[in-house]
Amino acid sequence: MSLAPLARIPKAELHLHIEGTLEPELAFELAARNGITLPYADTEELRKAYLFADLQSFLDLYYSLMAVLVTEDDFEALADAYLARAAEQGVRHAEIFFDPQAHAARGVEMGTVVEGLHRALARSEARHGISTKLIMCFLRDRSAESAMETLEAAKPYLDRIVGIGLDSAEVGNPASKFREVYEAAGALGLRKVAHAGEEGDPSYVWEALDILGVERVDHGLRSLEDPELVTRLVRDRIPLTLCPLSNVRLRTIDMLEDHPLVKMMDAGLLCTVNSDDPSYFGGYVGDTFHAVHEALGIDHERVRELARNSFVASFLDGSAEDEALRARYIAEVEAYELDDISG
Ligand SMILES: [Zn+2]
Repeated sequence: MSLAPLARIPKAELHLHIEGTLEPELAFELAARNGITLPYADTEELRKAYLFADLQSFLDLYYSLMAVLVTEDDFEALADAYLARAAEQGVRHAEIFFDPQAHAARGVEMGTVVEGLHRALARSEARHGISTKLIMCFLRDRSAESAMETLEAAKPYLDRIVGIGLDSAEVGNPASKFREVYEAAGALGLRKVAHAGEEGDPSYVWEALDILGVERVDHGLRSLEDPELVTRLVRDRIPLTLCPLSNVRLRTIDMLEDHPLVKMMDAGLLCTVNSDDPSYFGGYVGDTFHAVHEALGIDHERVRELARNSFVASFLDGSAEDEALRARYIAEVEAYELDDISG
């Protein structure tokens, strides 16, 4: 089914876990290639398993399916499949997360992951019309020492990685635990983001800002609960990478109609809309634009604002070349025809 023009407005995707783009068909293909037997009869049965009941059943499936990702070729195929999908969804620039610790735990080394992903990313502009950057995430439910070892393992590949992030189970794993590794990454010239305020209260966002020094907050969904935090985020123009379909599927909010996106935009927050783990959460980023337009009654100017914000919030500011690319993308957003379409 082809996507409505509103959903295909040019945009950047800033909150996307590459492991969360694994579709059932590719999972079976890679499993066959690597001689792995999946505990599902076929893609249909696996697709049903994607309709998980809660966070834990999602995480169980998410980590168990990663077993099919073994070689550089597998990571290349995964990224290439995402980029092809993203192109259909109007994505012009993607800043892609990956979780090296989840792969190291299975004996897959940093170099295999980074080089495999990089192969697909390096030809993405030519093949898919999408510029890319790669962000390495630490699993916050692992130790600070493990994060530091991961940063060390990444040192030979820093020309391929723009920044670091922090993901996985938030509550009980505050940002302060990772102060040292963020300082070390900053000294290496890496950009900083972190998941915060998804399930955790606003104190998690404060810690990400004040202790880790993040430039962008992933989720920040609960920020409105703290007016002082809102003032800070607005004052410093700290972008939030919201993922509305993820929030519904993981039961952080009950229904999309309850999502605070509009209130957050009204409060002056620099909001972006993203897909998080699209193969698991029921839609890619263009689908997400369509869904919030329908459920929240977001008008065309707000759709354009979200698209513009995605480039403003991107890391396309590290060089004159990047700045020029960003200006070109924003011009595409401004020129995009929305008025005569029904959405
Ligand atoms: Zn995420």
